Amino acid sequence: RPRVGVLALQGDVREHVAALVSGGAEAVTVRRPAELAAVDGLVLPGGESTTIDRLLRVFELREALRARIAEGLPVYGSCAGMILLADRILDGAKDQQTLGGLDITVRRNAFGRQVDSYEEDLPMAGVSGTGPDLRAVFIRAPWVEEAGPGVEVLARVGSGPAAGRIVAVRDGDLLATSFHPEITGDDRVHRFFVGMVRERVARQQG
Ligand code: GLN
Repeated sequence: RPRVGVLALQGDVREHVAALVSGGAEAVTVRRPAELAAVDGLVLPGGESTTIDRLLRVFELREALRARIAEGLPVYGSCAGMILLADRILDGAKDQQTLGGLDITVRRNAFGRQVDSYEEDLPMAGVSGTGPDLRAVFIRAPWVEEAGPGVEVLARVGSGPAAGRIVAVRDGDLLATSFHPEITGDDRVHRFFVGMVRERVARQQG
């Protein structure tokens, strides 16, 4: 089982740990640089991206995490985690910075201030396959306003005012979703990410 960490500074950590275990990983929480150094992959949970960014600095994890992302650590960011992975941000808080790594522009709180949450069943390329659609739960979620040429678009909103907006992407070893699969009891996104981590470990050993 690959060892996959969940950044445990803020946000829905327990749900990600459970989904990772169900998806085939050994899951551990990460709060310290030594814990970060010991994982084969990492989940950045949803929560509040400005708070997580501030805590990354307080816990002295920010530079180590940026370095590991640059080296090719597989990382899955959900919601606030997608914001943290994005190279560019629109509607960020004043002076808000991201970790970057993923060649996308995210729009924070894109579904509108009034729209606290929105749900829809969506197909996700490589993940839902011939099975049922995924239940996508968006909570004050970002969307991907623009994705660079190397980025694979895995899912888009199907209907309503946000129809067509990109909400799941992959670029190499980085995966991001605007929605929160960890709260649906469906482990397919986590299983997919654990597969990405396994492939990366195999490549490094090979
Ligand atoms: N709106 C939050 C942010 O800007 C993200 C919300 C979430 O992760 N559920 O970080």
